[in-house]
Amino acid sequence: ETQLDIAKIRKDFPILTRKVNGNPLVYFDNAATSQTPRQVIDTIVEYYSRYNANIHRGVHALAQEATEAYEEGRKKIQQFFNAAHTHEIIFTSGTTHSINLVANGFTSLLKKGDEILVSAMEHHSNIVPWQMLCERTGSTLKVIPMDTDGVLKMDDYKKLLSRRTKLVVCNHVSNALGTINPIEEIIPLAHAVGAAVLVDGAQSSPHLKVDVQKLDVDFYTASAHKLCGPTGIGMLYGKQDWLKKLPPYQGGGEMIAEVTFEKTTYADLPYKFEAGTPNICGGIAFGAAIDYLNSIGLEVIDAYEHELLAYATEKLSRIEGMQFYGTATRKTAVISFNIKGIHPYDVGTLLDKMGIAVRTGHHCAQPVMDFFQIPGTIRASFSFYNTKEEVDRFVEALVKARQMLT
Ligand code: PMP
Repeated sequence: ETQLDIAKIRKDFPILTRKVNGNPLVYFDNAATSQTPRQVIDTIVEYYSRYNANIHRGVHALAQEATEAYEEGRKKIQQFFNAAHTHEIIFTSGTTHSINLVANGFTSLLKKGDEILVSAMEHHSNIVPWQMLCERTGSTLKVIPMDTDGVLKMDDYKKLLSRRTKLVVCNHVSNALGTINPIEEIIPLAHAVGAAVLVDGAQSSPHLKVDVQKLDVDFYTASAHKLCGPTGIGMLYGKQDWLKKLPPYQGGGEMIAEVTFEKTTYADLPYKFEAGTPNICGGIAFGAAIDYLNSIGLEVIDAYEHELLAYATEKLSRIEGMQFYGTATRKTAVISFNIKGIHPYDVGTLLDKMGIAVRTGHHCAQPVMDFFQIPGTIRASFSFYNTKEEVDRFVEALVKARQMLT
């Protein structure tokens, strides 16, 4: 039984008291975006009420306060992921932006015949930027296959690795299946052939303690909106040496040292990658979200979410025609499933009528759906503010939906 005071935690999330279609909201779409605690909302209100100003150049008090709070946010992120330096944390708009920044940077480093390995269970945002990079450079994208449990085939991965491999890109946790990938094995194997590794941490960072130094990962990404923070802000961790080697992604203000019409020199890290006025409030609120998660503790969060996962999996498996996707033993609290003979979209629509929010569709991972030869799944993803009572309501609603649709 969890040590968490769930009733107290739920009071931190104003949205959890609202009704949807006349029923109390059950929010099981946490893998798409997490809800926002009062502490983060208050931080946003305080910023715009008290010290909204542009950063890094103003001499006035507001500009200094805003700069300090923004850089404090960066420091909190550094500590959260245990990066060696604050300047290894680049503020981005989210994981998608982080991946595009790296993929763009590799344009001048790759040539025809080079290979990029990508896992079979990636989100589109960790596929498309690499395809675009391959188009620019003549490099080839190769896929690390998975088995029907949604587990990567490590023997195939080892066979794919060669001196041609320049990059290995993989998510830490699959958003479509919940699988936790063995990145602690994937990373050293890639390094052994001289390849760099980018890990998409969009789905892992809210649940697992990540130590980028211990992992020895070259690039790691996160999106604040999956970590109880706001949308439009995220981060790229990059090893200092890599970030120095990569060219800037966008040009503009903030990212320069000196500009003349003849020649421009770039600012030091991290500013080289942060052109223009950034999402200042977002960076500050990202820091507040990390404070909030730390105040509860990722280990306690993970243990409780697994309690919910086991409880829900057991109850759901009693429903007739239930088909689960992603049955890895190491997974986060994500359940992807279908009920035989029923389209996932119809189930999702009926659940919404009963106040229950789940995701239906391909989850921006069409290759995963193609692998299982299905149009999509119903995905319930749990967070630490969810309860077993909510799981019960969800299961009851599913039984009802199934009766109506068959
Ligand atoms: N990768 C994974 C595994 C994700 O789950 C998501 C978000 N669904 C992304 C990348 C993209 O993140 P964002 O939309 O925040 O850029």
